[in-house]
Amino acid sequence: MQNTQSSCASYHCIVIGNPIAHSKSPELHQAFARQTGVKLSYQRQLCPNDKDSFIAVVESFFNGGGTGCNITVPFKEMAFDLVKARGALSEFAQVAGAVNTLAVKNGKLYGDNTDGRGLVADLVAKGVTLQGKNVVILGAGGATRGAILPLLNANVNSLHIANRTIKKAENLVKLMQNFNPEFARKLSYSSLENLPKNFEVIINATSIGLSGEALPFADDLTPDFGSSFAYDMMYGKPSAFLDFFRQKGATTADGLGMLIHQGALSFGFWTGKKVDLVKLGNPFD
Ligand code: NDP
Repeated sequence: MQNTQSSCASYHCIVIGNPIAHSKSPELHQAFARQTGVKLSYQRQLCPNDKDSFIAVVESFFNGGGTGCNITVPFKEMAFDLVKARGALSEFAQVAGAVNTLAVKNGKLYGDNTDGRGLVADLVAKGVTLQGKNVVILGAGGATRGAILPLLNANVNSLHIANRTIKKAENLVKLMQNFNPEFARKLSYSSLENLPKNFEVIINATSIGLSGEALPFADDLTPDFGSSFAYDMMYGKPSAFLDFFRQKGATTADGLGMLIHQGALSFGFWTGKKVDLVKLGNPFD
């Protein structure tokens, strides 16, 4: 594949997904481009949901001089497989088993995953200290998988993964312990009904909120969440999860900031420009 990245005076990017019409990425990246003075075209690319179509879209995009792709549902794992076979993966993408950012580096495909670092960056921007904290993450799907390494890199004291299908949480913990045996001390898992009694940060990375269902919490988790932080990766919808913890006194936030931060990391990778997200404010206002 051609490498167009270093010689670009203007940048050509797409987000590949199915469906894709709802994606906020073009708006987001144009806001980054305006702030950094970059000339950018950024389009939504609908792709049939099969591997051959996905590969054809990626190949024709980069062979046609494209700079970078964001990858969204349902193609993140396909992108991972493609890069694994033909190119190089960042450590974050390797652990996540999923790619959300593609580029061509030295003539080869390069795949990264910025979702988890976007989450951590948003938590930090919201004043949440992760170092030394006990963190619970609900879910064991792609979003959790992407978040684990960045959360562990942030030096949390412990990270507990709770999932409806307990085997998936167990497999994820084993995967991480094999990746780095030092993680064994920090990681644990359970069902959603058996959360640890004490934690300072809880993150919902299940897709349950998309269906409007409530999570099966025991109502007596701990007596006081006044100094806790609850984060729902979902955004743009009412969250029963956030309502639950807000009523118990926790500070809460939805996943819009994670979306913005992960986008800024992709944009920085493609263009070499750092977006000032404090100055930018909400790019969708
Ligand atoms: P996946 O489909 O990979 O995983 C879904 C997870 O939700 C699984 O752990 C699944 O459990 C659990 N789940 C689904 N339905 C229920 C239910 N009824 N009760 C209990 N658990 C349930 O999704 P992702 O990991 O990709 O995404 C998870 C969430 O994170 C979504 O809301 C998504 O929108 C959000 N997200 C936000 C981002 C952002 O930038 N803000 C980025 C990425 C994701 P089981 O294993 O038992 O099936």
